[in-house]
Amino acid sequence: MSDQASQATPHDTLMERLMDSRVAKNELGHAAAREVEDLRELIAELEADRDEWRNRACEIMTGHDALVERTIKGQQRRIAELEAERDELADEWKSAIESKAAAVNDWVDQRTKLEAENKRMREWMWVNHGCGVRSLYGDDGEMQCNNGKHRPIDFKRESITDILAALADTEET
Ligand SMILES: [Zn+2]
Repeated sequence: MSDQASQATPHDTLMERLMDSRVAKNELGHAAAREVEDLRELIAELEADRDEWRNRACEIMTGHDALVERTIKGQQRRIAELEAERDELADEWKSAIESKAAAVNDWVDQRTKLEAENKRMREWMWVNHGCGVRSLYGDDGEMQCNNGKHRPIDFKRESITDILAALADTEET
């Protein structure tokens, strides 16, 4: 009957009475109360440890986040610097290439002009080097003279120096 009466009392009420120093307890009750007290202290210590570790983990994560953010910002700055350098180099190369292209165009123009002048000069030498028009051969754009006063001269292909040397030999003979 006494067991049934105990079971009918709510658990919380039983624990309150067990832990209440004013409530008279037998040896068994005192042992149980001490055990409960020890366990509650242990639980409190473990909870304190848990909170401390939780806080530390939180600090570490916060520090990690800050580090990641700083690293990202640093990298973004570096990327911006590299992009600026790239743009600067691109501009330098562009102007260098444009300048070279202009120089090449000048050379081409100059060469075209010199070739035209060279052709006119060869034609003039061919026609006026002193032999009669009948000894000149000029088919298909050729400019030759084979009249025998001098060695055969190709006014179109030989160097000006060689042509002048051949004509000089003629004058001496
Ligand atoms: Zn001739």
